[in-house]
Amino acid sequence: MSKSMMTAFSPEHLSGSTGITHIIDQQSGSARVAAHALLDNLDAEGLALLRRTDHRLRRENTPRFLCGYCKTPVHIRVMSVDESGCVGGRRACFVHDPRPTPRDCPFGNFADQSSPAMIDGARFNGRQEGARHRFLKASLCHMLRTDPQIATADCEVLITGTGPDGRATWRRPDVLAVTTDGRRIAFDVQIAPPLLATIDGRERFYAAQETAWHWVVDTDQPERLKLQGMQDLILPQGRRVIGFNEEIAALAKKDTQIRFNLLHVTETNDLHYFKVARRIIGLDQALLLAGRPTRGPARIASDFRAIAFFESLHRGEITRAARIFDLISAADGFPDWNTARRDHLPDILLVLVALGFGRKTSAIEAKIRIFLTAVPAKYGPRFAPREWAFLIPKIAATDKQVASRIIHCAPDLRVLLDTAMTEITAEPETSALLWAKWKPLLHRLFPRLKIP
Ligand SMILES: [Zn+2]
Repeated sequence: MSKSMMTAFSPEHLSGSTGITHIIDQQSGSARVAAHALLDNLDAEGLALLRRTDHRLRRENTPRFLCGYCKTPVHIRVMSVDESGCVGGRRACFVHDPRPTPRDCPFGNFADQSSPAMIDGARFNGRQEGARHRFLKASLCHMLRTDPQIATADCEVLITGTGPDGRATWRRPDVLAVTTDGRRIAFDVQIAPPLLATIDGRERFYAAQETAWHWVVDTDQPERLKLQGMQDLILPQGRRVIGFNEEIAALAKKDTQIRFNLLHVTETNDLHYFKVARRIIGLDQALLLAGRPTRGPARIASDFRAIAFFESLHRGEITRAARIFDLISAADGFPDWNTARRDHLPDILLVLVALGFGRKTSAIEAKIRIFLTAVPAKYGPRFAPREWAFLIPKIAATDKQVASRIIHCAPDLRVLLDTAMTEITAEPETSALLWAKWKPLLHRLFPRLKIP
């Protein structure tokens, strides 16, 4: 690089709080894009979901974003809500990953940038086990022990398991309870904002152990929920989290029934602050929301993430749905959203969501018609979405509302569905492959339906 170029792009002049101006997004055809175009439109949940999916890709050594100048990996750094005066992507920027050797780049030549993980680690080290944390943990354990539905409740019990790579893993949840009918539920009280690696690691661990598990935050410190680590934790689980404090513990003690706060975090209209709504829930609902329940009222999805996924599909928020799908897939080891799209999985899920939650008959029928009549894409998959039609009778067999919707839909649609099923019976190979590949994920999304 020439001397004049270096002057024109002096790092003091261009980096600072605004970060690297242009980056390469390897997920959208390696195009060089303006960083603010990618970040500025994100709401707080979009930013948290992007940070989580980006963290996963970096953990797998396939970083999504590169510096638009030196083409080395970059990551997202976020200013605090107070400092920036807003929430969402406008307070985020891209900075280089730390590295041991100098690079040739107008946005910093040296290996001098600490990673956000190092900064967070230094900032919050030692605060984790404060008096408040110990107090909430002990109160929570005490509350669980007094409920007749709980056989045992203990602090810091070691849970061991095996990771997807076959290596031994373990965690010590703050509290582990076992119900009298043998269900396990773990709780981690979180006062300080956790690191992305902590959130991701815990989530994958408990999913692999098939243990119901919740983060528990301090209901009395709602201002903490605007810290980025808390946003990374709460917003991807449908903007909801379990809360606890003395007040709820006293209420639980009075009627010897477990109680929690269910906190619902939403951005205010001006995108500057969060509102926190709260209501009280019991043990059964806490188990349902943890995603490993064995009974309860939810008809289709049961856990925070699956509910948020179906809600996004239902509202047509496909980008949000894709990010939540990738978080579920990463935790449970399923293929990602792009693979799902190539297999037309979203097409059938949109039909099932319409059949399950839709209100307007005409809108539902339009979705089914598109699904059953679409032809194979010219450059995409060589098969049509309707290879998935076999899933409709499977779901209908276990869900009365879906079954009734099918029976009462327009006669020409029933004919189309019958034709699709006849085609699949005559040539079952593609459908059988799709079913074998996606059955574990479908069971996760529809746990209550026990699809045969
Ligand atoms: Zn660079």
